[in-house]
Amino acid sequence: MSFIRLAAAAGFAALLTLALIVTRSEAQPNTLKQIAPGVWFREGDIQNQGHCNNTIIEMKDYLIVVDANFPSGARAALADAKKVSSKPVKYVFDTHHHGDHAYGNAVWTQMGAITIAYSGVADEMKRYEPARWRDTAKSRPDVAEMKRDAPEPPQETFKDSPHVITDGTRRVEFRFYGWAHTRGDGFVYLPKEKILCTGDAVANGPYNFTADGNIGNWPKVIDSALKLDVDRVLPGHGAPGSRDVLTGQRAFFVELHKAVAAAVKSGKKLTDLVKKEQDKQVTSIQLPEGVKTWVGGSLAAQVTDTYNEITQKKPAGDLPH
Ligand SMILES: [Zn+2]
Repeated sequence: MSFIRLAAAAGFAALLTLALIVTRSEAQPNTLKQIAPGVWFREGDIQNQGHCNNTIIEMKDYLIVVDANFPSGARAALADAKKVSSKPVKYVFDTHHHGDHAYGNAVWTQMGAITIAYSGVADEMKRYEPARWRDTAKSRPDVAEMKRDAPEPPQETFKDSPHVITDGTRRVEFRFYGWAHTRGDGFVYLPKEKILCTGDAVANGPYNFTADGNIGNWPKVIDSALKLDVDRVLPGHGAPGSRDVLTGQRAFFVELHKAVAAAVKSGKKLTDLVKKEQDKQVTSIQLPEGVKTWVGGSLAAQVTDTYNEITQKKPAGDLPH
């Protein structure tokens, strides 16, 4: 191989490597991005700190923060909110009850904010807590340091969707469309800005946790969200995106359900679909290229939850776990 061809090949390889790095580093943890005037998206560091994303919405006299995050994530989000606005945080909306979205509630209320959620979030906390809090406190110092026995439930809840907050400058709608990721999944919609914050009902990447979910109903929840006029999707995990994040996440759950249902129909057992290899669960189920953004290390767990949901004819979240 001539030097020039070698150099060209090496250059191409370098380009390829760069392309891979760029794809992987699409994630920008701990950064604050302006999405629209007065609306910022903070990408949480899920990899190292288990944090969720936050959205900060500026109203005339105060801020609304989407998701309480873990306690350490709450402090990080608050510090970033202070960089962009001197207004106080008045409302913190819990999109659902999971620790990375709601365990920081007491951090926010201690500084005078009001935590608010769809009523299903408080119900889910009653169902799963304080067991999960106590378990999490063993491995997370920020939770242990709160010196609580249980998470603080949202102070205000609503049942009628949409629950609207407006002060003449901006309209914010808290919405509920049914059971996808949890029984309490809340969305935050800004109709004028065409922005939708989805919590974990819609993730942008391989972040779907299905054990508390209703996998068969998940696409229907996204169908309802798709009826909204949406340009920007701000997910609970992963980078912000366009309306394509909704359709992609929907397709992932349709394909997952379809593939597992076909395997069940052909007489496959769960042990045929999911196996343990060197301490890791692996699955023989393969999903189409088009949904690969959502396929990652949790696929075997997602297949297990889907298999159990289909064969036991109950939402995954209703099965013992
Ligand atoms: Zn979650």
